[in-house]
Formats: sequence, structure tokens, C-alpha cells
Amino acid sequence: MSTSIKGFCLHGSEKIKPATATDLSLNTNIVEMEVPELKEGELLAKTLYTGICGSDNSATLGKPNFDWVERPRIIGHEFSAEVLELGPGDHGDIKVGDVFTPLAMLGCQDEECPACSVAKWNLCPSKQIIGFHRNGGFGQRVVLETDRVVQLMEGLTPQQGALVEPLSIIVNALHNKCAIKPGQDVVVTGCGIIGLMSAELARAAGARVAITGIAQDRGVRLKKAKERGFIALEVGPENTLSQQLSKGVKDAKGIAFGNNGKVDLLIECSGVPQVLTEAISVVRPEGDICVIATYPTAVEINATHLTRTSLNMRGSMGSCREDYMVAQKLMVTGVFPSEHYTNFYDFENITQAFEDAIRAKNVKAVIKMN
Ligand SMILES: [Zn+2]
Ligand SMILES: [Zn+2]
Repeated sequence: MSTSIKGFCLHGSEKIKPATATDLSLNTNIVEMEVPELKEGELLAKTLYTGICGSDNSATLGKPNFDWVERPRIIGHEFSAEVLELGPGDHGDIKVGDVFTPLAMLGCQDEECPACSVAKWNLCPSKQIIGFHRNGGFGQRVVLETDRVVQLMEGLTPQQGALVEPLSIIVNALHNKCAIKPGQDVVVTGCGIIGLMSAELARAAGARVAITGIAQDRGVRLKKAKERGFIALEVGPENTLSQQLSKGVKDAKGIAFGNNGKVDLLIECSGVPQVLTEAISVVRPEGDICVIATYPTAVEINATHLTRTSLNMRGSMGSCREDYMVAQKLMVTGVFPSEHYTNFYDFENITQAFEDAIRAKNVKAVIKMN
């Protein structure tokens, strides 16, 4: 097979400052790519819609937490696609024409693997992430393992299909890791799509939610949050989250948010080390901190304060098949209003989409791939 197709390729790891991210071509370019021969258990698919993840942004900016990604690499792990061809081997009930989204993380599936033996591929030490360990959804064609396929639920559009993976991460973090209860006050730090999705699912679980952003988020992301009725807090070195909470934050009805400057749960989605450092000072004793972000450097934590307040801090990594099923349902039933947060771009404008995403000019950039 030798059909020539295009892909958005990560080839470099130069450090690019987000504020001056005008030349992503230092690290990325559009390439003609060859479709590889299908191996046992693999299929060929035409990508439909692919979302840009914060981790894709980090990789294109050459951030050190993505040093491990082999270059060149066609990135992209949040996508919908249509099956074009099945390779040799058993593909179960998957057939040509099926529209699906892949599990971003494929476990080793060894019976002896503690994670894979309980179907938690996201925790497998040798998991393979599509778009990082092998070419992914920013190619106009993609070859992947049939084991990754999650067929789209009836009623879910291919556009929404591109959002299943990120939403599934929030499902895992909020439904499996944090014990959110109705009536709780929750702060989400960071208003990228992971933060906004967290805000939506926390409220759907009965919490009252405030979400933070910085000055560059004012025009788009904090505005989107406000339109959805969340308490939107712009934070900065002169007006930190803890300062604002201690001074007193009110909701839209003028009712005090939090209790003496403390909240029940903080969900960290910013990836900024100082934000996590500050987080433990704004959560009430025996409250919870859920960490979904990753960080470019080590994070300083006042562990004594953690002990003395009996805080629970937990991380949440990725998601697995059952979280994908819940994520789809949340979009089909309108619990998560995907259209409010999605900005579509044609494939020709993919570099622009990345630059807009890095400068917070969009919320969730989704590329129409073909
Ligand atoms: Zn992602
Ligand atoms: Zn495993």
C-alpha cells in the first residue's frame, strides 16, 4: 500500500515560549506520510475530527515533560475515525465503516500485569499512548490496534467523538477519584478544556463551582465559564486565589462561596507548579485535592500543613474503557454541552489552531481532518 497522505508532525524539541509561540515550525511541520502495512490485529482508519490536547501543545513547545516522545511523530490522541480496512487477525465485531474513538492508552494486556489484569490500561507501566508512542490522529489516515477501538454510541456525532477522550479523563478523576458530594464548594484551577470539563462535571454532581484563569484567559475561556454560570476568578501574583477567597468570594446570587476562605475540594488543572503549592492552603481540613495536570518541574508542597489538616491529595491518570462509555453518555444526554466549548478548524489551518490554543484564543480546538 502506498497512498500518500498528510499529517501534522512533531519533529523538534526546541524550547518555545508560549507568549511568543508564533513559530511552531521550529518543532512541527505538515508532512506527506506513508500508510504502513497493517500488522496482525491492526486496522486502517480515516480520521474525521481530532482535538488538540494541552499535552500536544506542551510537546510542540518543547516542554521537558514531553522530552520522552520520539521524534518525528504524527501526534494526536483525541479523535474520531472511520474504519477503512482491517488487517490480518481477529477484529471481533469491528467492521469497515464503523465510526469510533480510540482508547488513547493501550495496556500490555499481560495477565500478570496488576493494572491490565483489572482492565486499567491507563495504569499499565508499559502502556502505549497513541500519538506519542505511535503515529496518531493528526494524520489524515491512522493505523492502530483494534483493541483500542470504542465504537461511538448511538446519537454521538463524530465531532463529539473527538471530545470523548478528554471528557473520560474527567470522568475518571471526578467519579472514581474524588468523592464529590452535592452542596460542596469546589475550585477548579486552570480554565483550559480539562478545567472547564471538570467544572461542568463537578456541578453536574451537585457542587457549586468556581474556576480560575489568568489575564490571557479573560477574553475567551473565563468568559465561556461565566456564560455557563460558573464563578470565574482571574488570578495573578497581586490577587492570588487564597487572597481572593480570604477576602470573600460570592456567587451570582451574592451568597458567600467557601467557608472562611476554604473550599471542600480543589481540582488542579493548570499544570503551574505554584498553583499546586498554593492549593493546600485553600482547602478545608479533611478536604480533597485532585491533581489532573502534569508539571514541567518538581512541585514544592508544605507536607506538614498537609498532615496537620488531614488533607487528601490524589492524582488521576488518564482513563479506561468504562470512563469512555460514561463520557459518551454525558454528551449524548447533554450533561456536558460540547458545542459551547468547541472551535473547529480545517486541516489546512492546523498550525493556526495550535497557536490559538497555546495563546488561549480558543477553548477546545478540533481539526476537521479530511
Ligand atoms: Zn490529552
Ligand atoms: Zn499492563
